[in-house]
Amino acid sequence: MTEPSTHHTTSVAIAGAGLSGLCLAQYLRLRGIDVRVYERDPGPFTRPQGYRITVDADGLTALRDSLPPHLYELAISAAGNPGGYFRFTDQRLRQAFKLSFDADDDAERQMDRQVLRSVLLLGLEDRVHYRHEVTAVEPTADGRALLRLENGRHVTADAVIAADGIGSALRDRIAPDGAPRDTGMAGVYGRTPLVQNGTRILPDALDRSGVLALGDRTGRAVFFTTMEFARPPAQAFARHAPGAPAPDIEDYIMWGVVLPRPEIPAGAAVNDPVALRQLALATAADHHPFIRRLIETSDPAATILSTFAAGSRPGPWALPNAAATGDAVHAMPPFGAHGGNTALRDAALLGAKLAAAYAAGGSSDAITAALAAYRDEMIPYAFKAVDLAEGMMRRLTGSKGVQQWVMLKLLPSLHRPLLPAT
Ligand SMILES: Cc1cc2nc3c(=O)[nH]c(=O)nc-3n(C[C@H](O)[C@H](O)[C@H](O)COP(=O)(O)OP(=O)(O)OC[C@H]3O[C@@H](n4cnc5c(N)ncnc54)[C@H](O)[C@@H]3O)c2cc1C
Repeated sequence: MTEPSTHHTTSVAIAGAGLSGLCLAQYLRLRGIDVRVYERDPGPFTRPQGYRITVDADGLTALRDSLPPHLYELAISAAGNPGGYFRFTDQRLRQAFKLSFDADDDAERQMDRQVLRSVLLLGLEDRVHYRHEVTAVEPTADGRALLRLENGRHVTADAVIAADGIGSALRDRIAPDGAPRDTGMAGVYGRTPLVQNGTRILPDALDRSGVLALGDRTGRAVFFTTMEFARPPAQAFARHAPGAPAPDIEDYIMWGVVLPRPEIPAGAAVNDPVALRQLALATAADHHPFIRRLIETSDPAATILSTFAAGSRPGPWALPNAAATGDAVHAMPPFGAHGGNTALRDAALLGAKLAAAYAAGGSSDAITAALAAYRDEMIPYAFKAVDLAEGMMRRLTGSKGVQQWVMLKLLPSLHRPLLPAT
C-alpha cells in the first residue's frame, strides 16, 4: 500500500475497492493501463463482509476476462463445488417447489465475498489506497476529471469511476437522477459454522441446497444456504498464488431474515450485531426449529443489517469523464443473486470500452465516448436485473391473495416437511 501525495495523477481513478472497483482495476492492469483505487476503509477486511455470493455465468465470464489466468483459477479453486438445488418452502420447511442446478464447471459457483476480494486484490497491492474517502468529482479545464478526497487530497485522471456502492458519494454529480429508492424491506444476515463440535449440522435432506422459507405473516421470510469450500481457501492460495496472504475461513451456513423495514425497532442499534441477531430470532420465531437453531448458534459478530433499495434508471452521465458501476448506479434487493454479478459484468464491459479507447490513442473525446457506450450497454441488462429482483421480492414477500395461497398453502400441503419438526 502506498500513500499518494496531496495531488496525484493517473489514467483511471476508481472510488471504492468493492467487487466492481477491484475487478475493473484488474481488467485495466492486465492491459497495462495505469489505475488507482481509493477506498474509505482502513484496510481490506475491516468490516464483517464475509457472506457468500452466488457468482453466475455472467459473473464468471467477467472474472475470466479481468483476471490473469492463475488468479481466475484461484477464484474457482477456492469456490464451492458446482450444482445443487434451490428450494422454496413454507416456514415449516414444507417444500412448494425446487430448482436444480447442473454440476457444470462453467455454471454458477458459490464464493465467499472475502475470499473473492482477496483474489481480486492480488497484484493491486500498490494501487489500492485505503483510508482515502472520496468526496466529490468535477471536470477539469483540460477535459479530464478531478477526484476530491477527504483531507484536501485530490487526483486528476482521464476517467473517474464511482464504484463506491449503494451510498455513493459521487452519484449526485455523475448520475443525479439515479438515486436508489427504498423498497420498504430489509434483511438481517448472519453466518453459522457448518461444523459444530465436530458434527456437520446440515441435515442430508438439505445437502447442497439453498432454501427460501416464506413466513405465514406477510413480508417475512428466511433464506439460508451453505458456503462449503471445494478445498480450504488456504490450500487453494498455496497452490495458485504461493506466498500470498490466504483468508482463514471455515465452511459456514449463511442465513438472512427478511422483514418489513418498519419492523426494525426505532433506535435499534443497527451496528450492534447481538441486538440484530435477537431481532432475527424474534422475526423467525414461528419458523422451523432448525432455522431458529441456525440463528441461535451463529457467529454473533458476523450479523449485519441490509436495507433493500432499488436503483433508478439514470440519464446520460452528467460529467463527460466520469461513470458509475455496480451498486452505485443499480442497487437491487438481494433476490435472484444479481447485484454482485451485474457489478462484475459492468467492470469487464467498462474495462473493455476504456481499453479500446486507450488503444485508439486515449484522447479525452475517446474516453468520453467509451464511458457513454458503456452506459448505453449497461442500462438494459442492469435495470432488467433490478426489475427482476424487485419483482421477485414483491411476489415472494407481498400479500397478493392467490399467489400467496398457492405458494404458502396449496403447494406445501402436497409435501411433508423436509425435516422433522423438532
Ligand atoms: C448478504 C448479502 C448477500 C449477497 N449475495 C449476493 C449474491 O449471492 N450474488 C450477487 O450477485 N450479489 C449478492 N449480493 C450483492 C452484492 O454483494 C453487491 O451487489 C456487490 O457487492 C456490489 O458491488 P459494488 O462493487 O458495486 O459495491 P461494494 O462491493 O459494496 O463496494 C463498494 C466499496 O466502496 C467503498 N466506499 C463506499 N463509500 C466510499 C467513499 N466515499 N470513498 C471511498 N470508498 C468508498 C466501500 O467501503 C466498499 O469497499 C449480496 C449482498 C448482501 C448484503
